[in-house]
Amino acid sequence: MMRSLVVALLVAPRAVAASGLPPAQYDRPYKGHLTIETVANVAAVRAVCGLAKVNACAFHGTGIDIAVCRIILPKDKLGDKLLMRHELGHCNGWPNHHPGIRPYPQPAP
Ligand SMILES: [Zn+2]
Repeated sequence: MMRSLVVALLVAPRAVAASGLPPAQYDRPYKGHLTIETVANVAAVRAVCGLAKVNACAFHGTGIDIAVCRIILPKDKLGDKLLMRHELGHCNGWPNHHPGIRPYPQPAP
């Protein structure tokens, strides 16, 4: 009962897929109540998120009500720190249309 209430308060992600890091003001640890939910694969992520082209998503509050966030990602991406920073940026209030997105750092040659 409590679980469904919390989920109902969260905003469904609506953005198009994008890869990169959030601007510096959103690229920080999330201080709210975070739930990380792993699913079997990208197809399952897309079903839960309701989006066709994403590899992960974050359901989060808006405005000042960003105290709860739920990240959905495939289990094989659980250790992907860059993807997590992207989704945590959304938890911190980064808008879903990704203003100010920064490219992921290139791996060392
Ligand atoms: Zn995003």
